[in-house]
Formats: sequence, C-alpha cells, structure tokens
Amino acid sequence: MTQLSFDLTAGSPALLTHPPSGSPFPTLAAAAAEAATCQRCPLGHTRTCSVFSDGSPTAPIMLIGEAPGQQEDETGTPFMGRAGQLLNQLLIAAGLDRATDLYICNTVKCRPPGNRKPTPAEKTACQPFLQTQVALVKPQLMVLTGATAVASILGKTPPISSIRGQWFDSSLNGVRAMPVFHPSYLLRYGSRAEGSPWVLTVADFQAVRRALHPH
Ligand code: SF4
Repeated sequence: MTQLSFDLTAGSPALLTHPPSGSPFPTLAAAAAEAATCQRCPLGHTRTCSVFSDGSPTAPIMLIGEAPGQQEDETGTPFMGRAGQLLNQLLIAAGLDRATDLYICNTVKCRPPGNRKPTPAEKTACQPFLQTQVALVKPQLMVLTGATAVASILGKTPPISSIRGQWFDSSLNGVRAMPVFHPSYLLRYGSRAEGSPWVLTVADFQAVRRALHPH
C-alpha cells in the first residue's frame, strides 16, 4: 500500500485541515441544513440547490467527487446526470449497491457556474461540510473520483492515470483512499476494450468491493 498522510498544516492544498476526529457540525442533518442556505462562498449566490449527499450515512464506502453539475444542482442529489448514470453502471459491474454500500458527496456542495472547477477559496469555504461528513459517517474506505477530490483529500496532484487503483493510507482514522477516474472522464472514452478507462475503473471498484468483502 502506498503510504501518504493528510497534510494538516495551515496553507496546505489538502482540504481536511482540522483534526480528523473533529466535526464542525453536531449531526449530518445540521450540516445539510446549513449548506442549504449557505452563503460562505460565491457559489451560494448562483446555485439552485445545494447538493449534500446521497446513499447511506452508515455506508462503509465514501465516494467523493468534485462538484455538482447542472442536473445535480436542479435535483439536490449528487451524481444524477450522465456521469451519475455511468457511475451506477460501474457500481453494478463491480457488485456494489449505491443505496447501501456508498455515501456519496462532493468536495463542494454547490455547482460552479459553467461546471468549472471549484477554486481553492471555494473548497476551503466548504471544508467544514466535508469534514463533518468524514467525521460522522466514519467510512471504512474512500473512493476519490477525479483529480479535484484527490487534491482536496490527499493534498497531492499527480496525474490520476499514475495513481488510480492504488490504496493510499490517509492516516485519517485509518481510512484508506483509492483514486479512480471520474465518471465524466469515462464518458469521453466510450471504448470498453481491454485496458480502456472503463475496464480499469470497473477493476478498481471491484478491488474496493474485495477490500470490504475479501471472501
Ligand atoms: S459551495 Fe459550500 S461554502 Fe460555498 S455556498 Fe455552497 S455550501 Fe456554502
């Protein structure tokens, strides 16, 4: 296993800069209610709905994406658009249940205009919500979809292709984290031939399932 630690120092590019055991909000419901009316960053002025989470708050896997897109902004549920449909196919192919095996969220809870990447200031402003989710869900494993989630959680920015499918020891309550391709990346590469991003990502999710259920 690759050994990495969360960088908890001030100014770190890592998102989780509070002690990992701490939760800025007492409950997930309290955090979600705050996010629904939050104006801590400019994304609060342009969103339709904040997008807090989907799946189970007792799930063993936390899947973290980048930011809500248009359909997520309209529905309030993460991974609902085309990328979400592809994620559902990946989960089925890997034998994982979205509703019970996963707790799904994003690094920021509101849609960036035009689906641009969230800025460092926006991610920092939204940090207490993700911090609360990690602290209270207490996942056994994390799946980081795409470079933004990897940078936010691990504080590292290597190409996803060079680190996907590997486990990183985050030292966050012993939670291991695996970077994978973002489903929106897979949408741009339709091939399902051997060695394609689709096949590699199915294998990554199957490795996640085996880590939870070795037999
Ligand atoms: S993205 Fe996060 S910090 Fe910014 S307004 Fe939405 S909930 Fe608040």
